[in-house]
Amino acid sequence: MPLKDTIVRDTSPARVRRTHRKGSEHLVSANESADAAATPVRYVCLPGCRFTGSTLLGSLLNEHPDCASVGAATGLIRRTDLSTYRCSCGELFRTCAFWNHIEARTRALGHPVNVFETNFWNTHLRLSRHHVANALLARSLKSGPLNRIRDAVVSIVPGARAAVTRMGWNTWSLASAVLERTGKTVFVDTARDHQRPKYLSRLPMLDVKVIHLVRDPRGNSASIMKHTGVDVATAARQWAHANVEAARVRRYLPQESWLSLHYEALCADPAGVMERISEFLGIGPPRMQHGFRDSVSHIIGNKMRMKGLGEIQEDLSWQTSLGDAEVSTIARIAGPTSRNMGYVWP
Ligand SMILES: [Zn+2]
Repeated sequence: MPLKDTIVRDTSPARVRRTHRKGSEHLVSANESADAAATPVRYVCLPGCRFTGSTLLGSLLNEHPDCASVGAATGLIRRTDLSTYRCSCGELFRTCAFWNHIEARTRALGHPVNVFETNFWNTHLRLSRHHVANALLARSLKSGPLNRIRDAVVSIVPGARAAVTRMGWNTWSLASAVLERTGKTVFVDTARDHQRPKYLSRLPMLDVKVIHLVRDPRGNSASIMKHTGVDVATAARQWAHANVEAARVRRYLPQESWLSLHYEALCADPAGVMERISEFLGIGPPRMQHGFRDSVSHIIGNKMRMKGLGEIQEDLSWQTSLGDAEVSTIARIAGPTSRNMGYVWP
């Protein structure tokens, strides 16, 4: 039985239970939830490798009159120190009026999102608190057929089904609150989680499209090494794994809902690529005349979010930071995937 069918059926009883348990405030939210399933929220995922330029793309899209991005919709990582962490608007995250509004509004929508907590929000799918069990239940098993068998088994486990539905409604609630507050119509989630589009695209309250942003494995590996301190082989393996897994998820979405994009193309012609993306999303033309960051944003994520975006330039520092042996290692590990992703190297 397809997981989507299972989840659709599972959603209604959950809404009814919630309504009865929590009173009239939730009756309103249940009705809103029913409306939401009838008119799904337009939602864009950006799966792929880290340090690919997704924060840049998310910030660019946030400048579009129809798109809103707050960074990764899965929230803040565990080591975030909320006593000092700042929103991209410059305010302390905890006191930012935007985020306080979003927190309150998701509560009013009947699916509160714990935005002031770290180690991910409840918009992130966890099927078990134990790392290994969660990986076996919810993450890729690195094989399409194995994933399908596992998913079929997990889909008939009521607890797992309910967790996916709950995560879906929380994600819907966050996106709805952000779109309502910003007056925009398309929510852009820069989470690199390659499994996320698979789960979200099966849910009736979201209308999911994917932009798979890929960066040349040499530049991407060098960036991973610089930011995380891993060796070149590890970085190249991370690149290959993230992109292979993102591409594997493609089969779960209609062809017209998937766009593959190179980071280098985005840097070479941001205006042209933004037009392509606007066509793909079926929205109006982008607003790019005066450069970026002419409005206030409330984005979480890496340091890129705090920089002005007036100049977009391809990061080519790998050309000097990587030695010949390192480039050979990347070619050996990531070469075949690089070719599959449309690169002419190696
Ligand atoms: Zn803010």
